[in-house]
Amino acid sequence: MQVLNFVDGAFQNTPQVLENVTPSTGEVFGTIPRSGAAEVDKAMAAAKRAFPAWSKTPVAERAACLERLADAVRDHADVLAKEEARDNGKPLSLAAHVDIPRAEKNLRFYASGVQHYASESHAMEGEAINYTLRKPLGVVACISPWNLPLYLFTWKVAPALAAGNCVVAKPSELTPVTAYLLSTWVKEAGFPDGVFNVLHGLGPEVGEAMVTHPDIAAVSFTGGTTTGARIAGHVAPKFKKMSLELGGKNPAIIFEDADFEDALRTTLRSSFANQGQICLCGSRILIQRPIYDKFKEALVAKASKMVAGDPLDPSTKLGAVVSEAHMEKILSYIGLAKEEGGQVLCGGHRLHPEGVEGGFYVAPTVIEGLGPACRTNQEEIFGPVVTLQPFDTEEEALALANDTAYGLAATLWTTDLKRAHRVAAGIESGIVWVNTWLLRDLRTPFGGVKASGLGREGGFDALEFFTEPQNICIKL
Ligand code: NDP
Repeated sequence: MQVLNFVDGAFQNTPQVLENVTPSTGEVFGTIPRSGAAEVDKAMAAAKRAFPAWSKTPVAERAACLERLADAVRDHADVLAKEEARDNGKPLSLAAHVDIPRAEKNLRFYASGVQHYASESHAMEGEAINYTLRKPLGVVACISPWNLPLYLFTWKVAPALAAGNCVVAKPSELTPVTAYLLSTWVKEAGFPDGVFNVLHGLGPEVGEAMVTHPDIAAVSFTGGTTTGARIAGHVAPKFKKMSLELGGKNPAIIFEDADFEDALRTTLRSSFANQGQICLCGSRILIQRPIYDKFKEALVAKASKMVAGDPLDPSTKLGAVVSEAHMEKILSYIGLAKEEGGQVLCGGHRLHPEGVEGGFYVAPTVIEGLGPACRTNQEEIFGPVVTLQPFDTEEEALALANDTAYGLAATLWTTDLKRAHRVAAGIESGIVWVNTWLLRDLRTPFGGVKASGLGREGGFDALEFFTEPQNICIKL
């Protein structure tokens, strides 16, 4: 497939293109534009021209455009799921049941949400009335990663557009196809030219040109912590708004009184879903000592049975990791874990499933015997690799859980209600799941603390981010 930029309502290519590789076989299956500063200038100029009219378009009309775009996602759900699986390596079943339905929901959620977003007013006892206008910012940059391509792309562009901003968006160069397909329906959904622009290319080239562009009003970024820090270095000195959703090293804490089977089943999923490439996956499993051996054996038995296969086969549950470079990074972390004294209980190597031998597959890997301070337990691996650590007391569990630079999400398993509240409140993270994982209500604030990011997405938080409050005080 030939992916093209979508700028000012028209499709454009660049003189140089990049190859798009499917991780399922390692083969090239298309090209994408290699955009840079020139394409960003054009997209920014178009978005700036479109902003005055779009920002004054009635909210209901903006919402209707988003609804029509959501209809297009629904009508093309099958092709989107297939393309997402081919582009990313994720199992088709996951793309079809999670990624694509969620992309549709994101668009509908903000089409509705913006119509319920009201300004506040504060009366000063007969003296004055204040009200707060929430004004769109202008042209915003939305940059998203490769792990949940259309899901995270729409999670940003939907609130940005709903709030009346014009958007220049960039999906990851590794997974551009579904964002491109979305851009093919933007015009028929009724968005005026220039309102919603999608550029493709390399992060350090086109992404960097977007975040350093003088006319950009805000940056919404999801990706790695190092990239986030680099972007913050550009954006912060210009006093522009930024929302940064970054990496994690999430703990899953399993107390001895947990519902064993439920904790086991869900921990298997939270460890290896999407090949461990979800920022919310639990990668450090902390188990209370009385059940440590039993839980370890059961988890290893289940993980060893997971079979990797062609992502496009509907029965596949474990697909490929996103690229050869990423596979090498994951394998090198497994090597590091061994050097640090870790014992690999299962997995630990590349797989070559029948029929797709050249693809980038890593066996689900469980490691024990490592202390909290080692690099394996401190750095984000972002693959199907988890470590196990025993603990004795609640205090020790909390200390281990919080012993990381990150603070995105945590999972906690106990049937003791008081302990659930106590421990949840003590964890330094933006999200805590108790006796579940990845259960998401789109109205809740989503984001991390510490090195996991800045700001919150979701619900009205995203609409707040994409608007500037203005207080107007009228003397009575
Ligand atoms: P990266 O930080 O490498 O890239 C994220 C996006 O930023 C991509 O579109 C990338 O483009 C772009 N980019 C790269 N360099 C620059 C730059 N200098 N300026 C502007 N944009 C740039 O992350 P990954 O794509 O590898 O995604 C994985 C990371 O994302 C993990 O750390 C994961 O934890 C995190 N993540 C966080 C989530 C959260 O909500 N907190 C959710 C999902 C993932 P390109 O790929 O084309 O180079």
